[in-house]
Amino acid sequence: MSTCVVVGGSGFLGQALVRQLLSTKRHKWHRIVVFDIRKAAAQHFDEVVIFRQGDIRKVDDLVAAFKGATVVFHCATAAPSAENAKNKEIMYAVNVQGTWNVIEACKICHVPSLVYVSSASVVFSGQDLDGVDESIPLPKRHVDYYTETKAIAERAVLNANSPELHTCCLRPSGIFGENDPLFVPTLVNNAKRGKMKYYIGDGTNRMDWTFVDNVAYALELAADGLEQRPEEIGGQVYFITNDDARPF
Ligand code: NAD
Repeated sequence: MSTCVVVGGSGFLGQALVRQLLSTKRHKWHRIVVFDIRKAAAQHFDEVVIFRQGDIRKVDDLVAAFKGATVVFHCATAAPSAENAKNKEIMYAVNVQGTWNVIEACKICHVPSLVYVSSASVVFSGQDLDGVDESIPLPKRHVDYYTETKAIAERAVLNANSPELHTCCLRPSGIFGENDPLFVPTLVNNAKRGKMKYYIGDGTNRMDWTFVDNVAYALELAADGLEQRPEEIGGQVYFITNDDARPF
């Protein structure tokens, strides 16, 4: 029986990842465990896709879900809403302590591979970034607690890479697609409130957006890479963007 766990599997990206794992790997994954603090109303569960309610702030909840897993995908985050991004307590508890707990539970359960969804925003210091790659260092100061805690969690996951637990981190920038709970709804709300009538700069600013299914596909490739080429992929961090990904 091969089992994987999608931590934060009820979320926007987590649900897309479950769809991805089901569409191409039904023969590979006999069990896909969705671990989340809440159950998504529209998500379908059966004998393959199993829901386990739990809180990543509690290591025991994670250990109960990780038993027998060969890959853990960590997609959980405290929602980076405007209020939450300024809430140090919740960001540290979920994103930092939660990720330490995920690493600890992987070790306790002898899970061989952990893929963490970080964020491209960990390298953002408030200045424009164009054409950078993974060699860019993290800034000394982050713009908010969301990016600060994502950066700390990313470092913890990379430091945990070892022959027993292979780890890597993916850094998507903005994600769009089916069931987006944040960006498009925010745009629509702002438009309704008449707040889309101005722009900052000369209108040529660019933003990196990736289709949610492409991020899910990248997660699957990362897990395959950790399994098949752990010396090469383990301990690495990768920006994820639509360029060079499969068309959508
Ligand atoms: P989301 O908010 O839709 O999903 C996060 C999930 O984590 C939710 O289902 C939530 O219930 C769960 N969660 C929160 N706290 C929890 C806890 N204490 N215990 C267990 N589960 C908990 O977010 P998303 O957009 O799917 O983001 C997935 C990952 O991608 C995150 O790590 C995020 O930082 C990263 N990311 C997202 C974007 C984006 O544009 N959405 C961009 C870059 C990186």
